[in-house]
Amino acid sequence: MRKKLVVGNWKMHGSRAANAALLGALREAGPWSADVAVCVPFPYLAETALALTGQAVMLGAQDCSAHEQGAFTGEVSSAMLADLGCRYVLVGHSERRAFHHESDQLVADKAKAALAHGVTPIVCVGETLAEREAGQTEVVVKRQLAAVIHTLTHCIGEIVLAYEPVWAIGTGLTASPEQAQAVHAVLRTQLHAASQKSASMRILYGGSVKPDNAAQLFAQPDIDGGLIGGAALKAADFAAICRAA
Ligand code: PEP
Repeated sequence: MRKKLVVGNWKMHGSRAANAALLGALREAGPWSADVAVCVPFPYLAETALALTGQAVMLGAQDCSAHEQGAFTGEVSSAMLADLGCRYVLVGHSERRAFHHESDQLVADKAKAALAHGVTPIVCVGETLAEREAGQTEVVVKRQLAAVIHTLTHCIGEIVLAYEPVWAIGTGLTASPEQAQAVHAVLRTQLHAASQKSASMRILYGGSVKPDNAAQLFAQPDIDGGLIGGAALKAADFAAICRAA
């Protein structure tokens, strides 16, 4: 039995005042039976860590460097994230892959760097609309996951995977529960071949999850929670999604 996990991705949103209000409202709304985390922008990690003290909500970041330390201006290492109390870090979000040209191998290297410091990488995979329409969905997500499996070898069981169809992110279009489940089942099978822990590994769905579609998505056998963008910025919506998990 896998415990559900709901992760809010704040992306490049927020301010000290807005974050305090959001976190305060979440404190009132919880606790939930699912695990819950928020991935906040780097400048707010330390303050959010303090605000989450004594709460069940866990802290996460939105990216990390593949490097240990050194002359990498602007990058943030996973050791720094661990130092700030991060439990999770997103790697390979489609916005990073698209806007920062992150390759499958770089994403895998970031996942490896995170694990080396005890930070759980949430590895995002997903196809574009053109790839789906070309019948390439399976090929694409399997290729993206294969790079991570190859790089992490025996540690692959330690990651969280997130299936996020690019065409569903921030668009209001959601994969149907059946569409999402079909891809999750493919990913589970691939994990099964790579790790004895596959049955206990969590695979999240992300892409326009809202309070009114969350329960149906989370009811699918291989959907173990959600990665939530827009709806994570509204405390009432995020809380309702956490309740549905
Ligand atoms: C995301 O950014 O990971 C995401 C799923 O966004 P949204 O929920 O807004 O589609």
